[in-house]
Amino acid sequence: MSDCIFCQIAAGELPSHTVYEDETVFAFLDANPLVEGHTLVIPRAHYGTTTELPGDVGAALGRAVTQLAPAVEAAVDADASTIGINNGPAAGQEIEHLHAHIVPRTRTDGGGAVHSIVGQPTAADDDQLATVAESIAAALST
Ligand code: AMP
Ligand code: ZN
Repeated sequence: MSDCIFCQIAAGELPSHTVYEDETVFAFLDANPLVEGHTLVIPRAHYGTTTELPGDVGAALGRAVTQLAPAVEAAVDADASTIGINNGPAAGQEIEHLHAHIVPRTRTDGGGAVHSIVGQPTAADDDQLATVAESIAAALST
């Protein structure tokens, strides 16, 4: 997409601090890092969310993320990393080109776990869990 800034970054038409690239995937530093080393990993081609992502591109993206995470952590002497995708606008996605965040973490950074993305976690009993699990399994086969 010609008006997508992440397409333009992957094509080299906009500058970025590139940390990795291959024919399918491109990774660069977030311009507004949550912490030093905050890295974004994107498919070179434009896909909005994981729903649109072909399996082979998803595999390449996942492989790059798993290889990059320890490198990012090592580069900034982090203890761990949080890896996440804001997968659609309602989940906080602002740039409409799918991207995985790798955010280096330390034991003392004061941040939360991914559980902190929802303000009031829901309670569920075993019957509710079973119903939702069945719904997800059914949706997979449609
Ligand atoms: P999200 O809310 O998941 O869509 O996150 C978009 C991320 O892209 C934010 O963390 C921004 O700081 C980052 N960002 C926006 N523009 C640029 C850019 N030109 N280069 C690098 N990162 C960017
Ligand atoms: Zn794009």
